[in-house]
Amino acid sequence: MMIPANDRGFYFGDGIYEAAMVFDYKIYALQDHLDRMFNSAAMLRIELPYTKEEVGALLTDLVQKLESSCQFLYWQVTRGTSPRNHMFPGEGVSSNLYVYSKPWKGVQMSDEYRLISIPDTRFYHCNIKTLNLIPNVMAAQQASEVGCNETVCVRDGYVTECSHSNISMVKDGVFITHPLDDLILPGNERKHIIRWCGELGIPVEERAFTLEELYTADEILVTSTSHPSMRAMELNQKAVGMKNPELIQKLRDKYLNEIGK
Ligand code: PLP
Repeated sequence: MMIPANDRGFYFGDGIYEAAMVFDYKIYALQDHLDRMFNSAAMLRIELPYTKEEVGALLTDLVQKLESSCQFLYWQVTRGTSPRNHMFPGEGVSSNLYVYSKPWKGVQMSDEYRLISIPDTRFYHCNIKTLNLIPNVMAAQQASEVGCNETVCVRDGYVTECSHSNISMVKDGVFITHPLDDLILPGNERKHIIRWCGELGIPVEERAFTLEELYTADEILVTSTSHPSMRAMELNQKAVGMKNPELIQKLRDKYLNEIGK
């Protein structure tokens, strides 16, 4: 496989990406990923020379070709290949699509996530799934170096999300999660959980919460496509959450049911 040295993703990170889970050779929540892919591209004014249906068909075809039925599927689109220049390349330069899929270890759920909090120093376009992930990379490494699994990003006194996941909490039976704006990625797992809460009669509040609220939450749930239900038991070395296992189990059952497990 060759990546052109003048791919704008290579020298500017000028592109967007998606990651999806594949169970039994089926891409879970494919439509949600395609919708977000096209939204991210539109927000960066990257023109896509194919329809959602065409990308969906290409991905669906690709995942059949691996021996493993459980996969982690990744794809990215960059603004195309052109010598370095901040302005968009002119007419005739089309975006580049890159896709891979790799065998995956199965459904990832944990009751032992350890978290640290850090200031959220990212820019204001966190709703776009761009390739520019330097603060996220630094944050993930920081967590890993102190034996933690994720970082809780705090901006202006409020928790936004984690370095590669959304974060939500449960308090008095209410599921509380940051509202959709330019400070967080509109996570697909977050979206599914809100839908399941509706089906289960669990009230949802989409509002920002503070670190202090997180310390006293009944449950803290860190969610992403590849790690859909990671329950935090420690935040900045203090014991947290783990007080409403029944509610978490109901959400996990919904997920397992949806992926056919
Ligand atoms: N927030 C960030 C910064 C992420 O990188 C991710 C996933 O990669 C998420 C949230 C969760 O999004 P999703 O549930 O769609 O995987």
